Amino acid sequence: MRPFKLLIGALLNNWAVLVHSTNSQSPLIASSQPSSDLLSLHKSLVECSSITYNEHAVEQLLTSYLKQQNFTVETQPVAAATATKHARHNIFAYTGKTRKTRTLVSSHVDTVPPYWPYELRGSEIWGRGSVDAKGSVATQIKAVESLLGSGAIAEGDVALLFVVGEEIGGDGMRAANDLGLSWDTVIFGEPTELKLASGHKGNVGLRIKARGKAGHSGYPELGRNANSMLVKALYALDRVELPWSEKYGNTTLNIGRMEGGVAGNVIAEEAEAQLQIRIADGEPADVEKVILEVLEELGEELDVSFTPGYGPVEIDHDVEGKFLKPAVWTLRS
Ligand SMILES: [Zn+2]
Repeated sequence: MRPFKLLIGALLNNWAVLVHSTNSQSPLIASSQPSSDLLSLHKSLVECSSITYNEHAVEQLLTSYLKQQNFTVETQPVAAATATKHARHNIFAYTGKTRKTRTLVSSHVDTVPPYWPYELRGSEIWGRGSVDAKGSVATQIKAVESLLGSGAIAEGDVALLFVVGEEIGGDGMRAANDLGLSWDTVIFGEPTELKLASGHKGNVGLRIKARGKAGHSGYPELGRNANSMLVKALYALDRVELPWSEKYGNTTLNIGRMEGGVAGNVIAEEAEAQLQIRIADGEPADVEKVILEVLEELGEELDVSFTPGYGPVEIDHDVEGKFLKPAVWTLRS
């Protein structure tokens, strides 16, 4: 996990550059030191566990914070594919009565597991979601507050949308389509290595199942080891060459989860792996073809299935992506 300290400046700068895309490239917010308000909002957000499907606590925190800051806050129910303890909601906030604004600033409030508490390590902040994406959420809110406070923007200019379920399935963002709104400009907060990103890689998931024949480990000739079959497949895929592009670099393949067998002295009957591929060029079908060819060459009996995927996404943008020099601050604890 990357520490949070570099992100604040990037987001504030990105934000300002985009808002004034037509007339200025210089940030409106000149501060080079994050305010204690920003750090304390960020801390509260990170301290709130909000693993996908369980975003309730952070929803409540944000709703009450935004109301306190005089935003008009709408909570939009979001259905979940699995049962959840609490109902889930997107949070949509704006100034006054004008919910349709020129610009939308958005990010997500859920995180991947496991929960990792907020922690200061020297001048770095650590903790689950401290960068992705509570760093974005906190800086976006404080940036909008600051711009409103200075009079640089007013009612009708900017709305904030914080969605649930980004890390799995995109339930929240899909539901946001039903808010019945449109914008001239949308800014998404995500870790981008201090770059203003104007596109992103595609994505496809892959599941490989191997079915062998169980037996006693002392008689390997009587069984067929599903773990060995799977390991061969994964070894080959770990080395496969996939399409790349100038803009997005390499297509990357992550062997994220493996499971197989029942005990050390039993020939494994079943084994399974889940992989995620980030596509830098072409369509999922191109990647799938390469993967299937590699696996077929092995001659193992494997059950391979792909999740619905998509190729690289080019974002319609007016402002060129640019590298922003990182600012480093010393945090006062
Ligand atoms: Zn994210």
